[in-house]
Amino acid sequence: MHIAVLGLGPAGSVLAHRAVARGWTVDGYDPACRDTDGSPTLPEWRSTYGLPVAALPDWANSLIPFSSVSPGLSAHTPGHRVLDYGGYGMVDRTALRERLVPGIRLHRRRVDAPTARTLGVDAVIDCRGVVDRPGSVRQIAYGIFLPPETAQDAGLATSEFMDWRPSPRASEHREGGPSFLYVQDLGD
Ligand SMILES: Cc1cc2nc3c(=O)[nH]c(=O)nc-3n(C[C@H](O)[C@H](O)[C@H](O)COP(=O)(O)OP(=O)(O)OC[C@H]3O[C@@H](n4cnc5c(N)ncnc54)[C@H](O)[C@@H]3O)c2cc1C
Repeated sequence: MHIAVLGLGPAGSVLAHRAVARGWTVDGYDPACRDTDGSPTLPEWRSTYGLPVAALPDWANSLIPFSSVSPGLSAHTPGHRVLDYGGYGMVDRTALRERLVPGIRLHRRRVDAPTARTLGVDAVIDCRGVVDRPGSVRQIAYGIFLPPETAQDAGLATSEFMDWRPSPRASEHREGGPSFLYVQDLGD
């Protein structure tokens, strides 16, 4: 098989890696691929990725490196609940990207649906992520990195999967929609 993968976020990159492992020829396309010494590398992934480790299949468990694994998933909805999913791991993105890249033929290029039909491959896999459509709902988050001691002082030392309790200063931010706090130890 010779396939083209459009979009090299986590989904496209892992899919491309699995296809290479099967002996397939894989061309990966993403305009966000970076150039290192003249050759493209996988895009920087800007999000943080957390996973319940026990939910992963065996091949993913041996492939995906974690920078930290918290013992359990704690949630406030607003009542406190501990979710029975086992450890919650934060993906070490840099290490994972290095593991995925060998064998994928990378192209720093945007490819749309009409162009994809001209690539001359056996299959095109669309991993371009969420595409904005009129009226679609969009999730927005921002994150801050805190040294462990600062997190401790702010009462943010315990991993929190979803904390839906109102912020102590919520009344100052009435215009906002529903929101939750997410706290994870990144291990570094
Ligand atoms: C606010 C927010 C918070 C999140 N928090 C978490 C979290 O805490 N933990 C977690 O696990 N997940 C989280 N997610 C979800 C996570 O970011 C997504 O599930 C994940 O990025 C999806 O991966 P993907 O590879 O499908 O798509 P994406 O990461 O969106 O990658 C798509 C890729 O396609 C490329 N592309 C786009 N158009 C083209 C084109 N025409 N041709 C070629 N390439 C193209 C883009 O450059 C991009 O690199 C969050 C998402 C959001 C929006």
